[in-house]
Amino acid sequence: MDKRNIPISLPVTGEEEWQAVKEPLMTGWLTSGPKVREFENLFAERHQVKHAIAVTSATTALHLSLVALGVGPGDEVIVPAFTWVSTANVVLQVGAAVVFCDIDPKTFNIDPTQLTDKVTDRTKAIMTVHLFGLCSDMDAIKEAAPGVPIIEDGACAAGAAYKGIPAGALGDFGCFSFHPRKSVTTGEGGMVTTNNDAYGEKLGILRNHGASVSEEQRHHGPRPYILPDFDVSGYNYRMTDLQGAVGVVQLGKLDQFINERAKWAAYYKKELSGLEWLQLPEFSADYDHGWQSFVTLIDETKAPYTRNEIMEKLQERGISTRPGTHAVHMLNFYANTFDIKPGDYPGAQIANDYSMSIPLHNRMNELDFQYVVETLKSI
Ligand SMILES: *Cc1c(COP(=O)(O)O)cnc(C)c1O
Repeated sequence: MDKRNIPISLPVTGEEEWQAVKEPLMTGWLTSGPKVREFENLFAERHQVKHAIAVTSATTALHLSLVALGVGPGDEVIVPAFTWVSTANVVLQVGAAVVFCDIDPKTFNIDPTQLTDKVTDRTKAIMTVHLFGLCSDMDAIKEAAPGVPIIEDGACAAGAAYKGIPAGALGDFGCFSFHPRKSVTTGEGGMVTTNNDAYGEKLGILRNHGASVSEEQRHHGPRPYILPDFDVSGYNYRMTDLQGAVGVVQLGKLDQFINERAKWAAYYKKELSGLEWLQLPEFSADYDHGWQSFVTLIDETKAPYTRNEIMEKLQERGISTRPGTHAVHMLNFYANTFDIKPGDYPGAQIANDYSMSIPLHNRMNELDFQYVVETLKSI
């Protein structure tokens, strides 16, 4: 096949999103307003939760969840050692201690068998990550750490499910990202979901400076000239209505996006299963994968080259790849500040050193997928 150029990820945005941002621009209501509310309502409905609170990113969603839970100095939060760095950063930002738990390199998710030992009387929450769109084993987590509040880092998991229950409805809080590399995008953006009314109210207040009523309520209420009172010290984590308008359109395409990616993920699994050096995603029928990424693991004892050499060869042939994500405990800041060794979390170390994400997104066509398969087979 002729050489093609295939980026690791490319969002599907176009005419409909372009038209959607016109309304807030024309009315002049640019910050959180009717479009954000519509996006929140649709998101809550799709993920079968009572409350969805739009924020500026998954990182601020995670931060706000910790604040709403009252996590602070002296507390511990359990975080998988293999995830995007912000899952751990936000714990430090509220003054609590990060307690890493190793992951299972077969699923790239937290290993519940290692969880019980991590729980102490200071444990205030578990941040479990549904990495690359595959939900964590929630029953095993709840069994290993009974009663510990769970924050789902579902940044990659919009539309994914575990035993028929959508991500975001599985723990006490669910946090999602709308960064362009995720399943649906608003440029930047995030969402917190919860079924708890008290948390839902708290999150809404905290994301808006701690104001007791939102701008929208105040402007459309009987006395718009009365400024709200502030009972707590909050943040400005408001999503704009421009983003909300894009989110409404994108969310309408979520299931179609996932179905398409699931079809091509199945194609990859079928076509690549003969490569004995390449571990492909495996999971039981309990899981509906969101397929944010298709992440493989390279067995260098059987592979013709190292992981990095394979990534380089693919890049030369126009195929972008990436390591899945980081082992956070191996990043300079965490390794140096907390004196952690790479081998302290061997599962995360394996995932860090040998994972390879290959392109799977909704801007690829049949020839692109065939090209990736043929190129990988030819290595
Ligand atoms: C992308 C990602 C984040 C951060 O999302 P932002 O919206 O960019 O803040 C957090 N956790 C995981 C697992 C992610 O993949």
